[in-house]
Amino acid sequence: MLDSMRRCWLLAFVVAWAFAACSTETDSATVATAAATGSMADVTGSDDCSQEALSGDDPQYVFTSAHRVIDGELDALCLGTDDPTITAAWKQLAAIAPREQLSDLALFGGFEPDGADAAETLAFVNALDADGAQFQMSVNTVEATVDPDELLLTLAHEFSHVFTATPTQLDRTDEGIDECDTYFNGEGCYSEDALMMGWIEAFWDDALLAGVDPLEDSVEDADARCDIEAGFFGPYAATNPEEDFAEAFSAFVFRLDPATDGQAERLGWIAQQPGLTEFRDRAEAAGMTPLVNNFELCG
Ligand SMILES: [Zn+2]
Repeated sequence: MLDSMRRCWLLAFVVAWAFAACSTETDSATVATAAATGSMADVTGSDDCSQEALSGDDPQYVFTSAHRVIDGELDALCLGTDDPTITAAWKQLAAIAPREQLSDLALFGGFEPDGADAAETLAFVNALDADGAQFQMSVNTVEATVDPDELLLTLAHEFSHVFTATPTQLDRTDEGIDECDTYFNGEGCYSEDALMMGWIEAFWDDALLAGVDPLEDSVEDADARCDIEAGFFGPYAATNPEEDFAEAFSAFVFRLDPATDGQAERLGWIAQQPGLTEFRDRAEAAGMTPLVNNFELCG
């Protein structure tokens, strides 16, 4: 069920050694070369496709397959064996996301949960380098087969965590974080014209935002926010502005009927942002819409 599952982003691991070298060599040509030769396996974050790197050394996330993504296309397996669940999920993601945007991904993998936290995680994304120029997306292969519609919503949700956290959106440098006068989300500081800043200005007033700890999610606090704001697509959306946007974006892409005025306002806001309707149009063209609004009600 939506209310008991988490679609998280940015597990608390960032591959520290990824920053040390080759920081300018995150382009796909370099990745492709490295993949072919294996010579840079220990150098760039996006090159390390080991179980340890993919899982952030968390044994709950047992990766069974992972692919490199090169120029927005699923490339060779770099871990495990081919998993039809994962390749099908990729095709669905590629159906809704423009290829140019998919090029922000460098790794796409599937994990089997071995523990409560992982079992509740439908999918997650994490940055692979210090700038947030390349991302890994990982899908829970057990949950992915339970509910096809849920998987579609999850893929759109997760991908929103990528395009709202690229270097032009989120400044992850120490200096940027130290001098942040927009919003520090726990990973970096949003640029003034970031999509998420517009979202916060529209839907998260100072009082609401003050209750969020960017470094530690609180289910209780989210539930309390859900109780008083009917615009959220479920209690998980009330976790923080990013999850609010991600849930609403998934609802937008798959043309869910808004259940409240607040939900309708969120969908309307997204429709006005440059580039975002393309996702919805692509989903519609692929015959994936509309999906039913099964989000638990807030308010
Ligand atoms: Zn999320």
